[in-house]
Amino acid sequence: MTFNNYIDGTWVPSRGGQTFENRNPADQQDLVGTFQGSTPDDAADAIAAAARAYPSWRLVPAPKRAETLFRAAALIAARKEEFARDMTREMGKVLEETRGDVQEAIDMTYFMAGEGRRLYGQTVPSELRNKFAMSVRQPIGVCAVITPWNFPMAIPSWKIIPALVCGNTVVFKPATLTPLSAVNFVKVLEEAGVPPGVVNLVTGGADVGTVLSTHPDVSVVSFTGSTAVGRLVNQHAASAFKKVHLEMGGKNVVMIMDDAQLELAVDGCLWGGFGTTGQRCTAASRVVVHERVYDAFLEAFVERTRALRVGNGLDPAVQMGPSVSEAQLATVQRYVEIGRGEGARLLTGGRRLCEGAHARGFFHEPTIFADVQPTMRVAQEEIFGPVVSVVRCRSLEEAIAIGNNVSYGLSASIYTRDVNAAFTAMRDLYTGIFYVNAPTIGAEVHLPFGGTKATGNGHREAGTAALDVFSEWKSIYVDFSGRLQRAQIDTEDL
Ligand code: NAD
Repeated sequence: MTFNNYIDGTWVPSRGGQTFENRNPADQQDLVGTFQGSTPDDAADAIAAAARAYPSWRLVPAPKRAETLFRAAALIAARKEEFARDMTREMGKVLEETRGDVQEAIDMTYFMAGEGRRLYGQTVPSELRNKFAMSVRQPIGVCAVITPWNFPMAIPSWKIIPALVCGNTVVFKPATLTPLSAVNFVKVLEEAGVPPGVVNLVTGGADVGTVLSTHPDVSVVSFTGSTAVGRLVNQHAASAFKKVHLEMGGKNVVMIMDDAQLELAVDGCLWGGFGTTGQRCTAASRVVVHERVYDAFLEAFVERTRALRVGNGLDPAVQMGPSVSEAQLATVQRYVEIGRGEGARLLTGGRRLCEGAHARGFFHEPTIFADVQPTMRVAQEEIFGPVVSVVRCRSLEEAIAIGNNVSYGLSASIYTRDVNAAFTAMRDLYTGIFYVNAPTIGAEVHLPFGGTKATGNGHREAGTAALDVFSEWKSIYVDFSGRLQRAQIDTEDL
């Protein structure tokens, strides 16, 4: 089946006539669909439609905009299973996880629709008599939304829904590996009654993304993806002073102290390291373990890892799906070689799986390196695959220092029963997200989400923090004194 772009309320083919195929990474013979390989002209059409729709959408009362979004949330909920299956077919993560992805979009849509009746500003006393002071949020204009493939419905919802509730219009460019989930999401918005031009979808690659981050009629670019592409987007958008929101890579750490509940820590590392095949920005790809429990932890972690069932995510018995693409699998294989070459000890995994049920997909064994030095590349660089590097430490202070010593700053966690250690780590890890006695993954939609250093540029998505990306503050003063009152000067008359 061939899917079109959605521009100005109409599903249209690319002007260039090019298409691309999307195939199941667990089974390359399974064609998920054919999608538009859009051109810069298509992107420009979508931006023009969004710019035309903006003047009227921004004036729809926010609670009314929100009613449309509440309807959208209910529609997604009604189709959760169908959307989850489509998502597993197009990017491979197991059904339980794709259901979670869709659920996150439902939660975010309900949460942000609720903001339609809040969007709180401030009223404050004026320093002058007979003068009123307040701040209000105002929409910004056309928002470009550029997203990755690992959370194909959740991440677009984190951006598109707050953008809409604030009164902006949107041009959405999903990752080329997950266009079907994007089509599903946009169809729901259409059916819920979002007016033509308010949301536009253009599928395609870097060419489309470049237009979105450079076009003069785009006011906000919200990007989630790799740090390398995020840097480019930032540079492209800088000269026109666009507001740029970047969520990028991670190299997250789980710290396991000598008083930790080891079984719980092992559960957390399995889920954090190998959930979504390690393809989460918050993946627990580094585990720093206190020397007193190092061997015991490794023994249990390796045993449980060897027992993980790898295969097609549509099979309910499977616990870990494939890498999303051949290129991603090649990256994993390359890092396994790098780890070996650096002298890390390979305890389990390390090979591609290509026999029998694995023959037609991009499967890799869940892999553990032990005795990793904190400066090795496998401990420093984002691999985005099922590879966990285990590092030994002697103290909490050393664990924190290792935890912080990477260029990224998304998520970190500690396993301990010592409240002093937990609070010290909560304070001292320079990340945007922190967990105690849980792995590095598992964000909830009503709290801010994002990272420090090379992970982000100071903005946050989710929670009410996301509203700050998609609105601007306006301070309003109403002087009802009937005379000129000068702030900071006419203070004596008071
Ligand atoms: P990517 O950077 O390759 O692509 C992200 C998006 O940018 C895609 O839609 C892609 O088509 C587009 N793009 C590519 N070149 C572009 C260009 N020149 N200009 C504009 N857009 C362009 O990332 P990916 O492989 O899709 O996703 C994996 C990465 O995403 C990982 O690094 C992961 O850590 C990160 N990620 C971060 C978060 C977070 O919240 N911090 C969440 C999920 C994923």
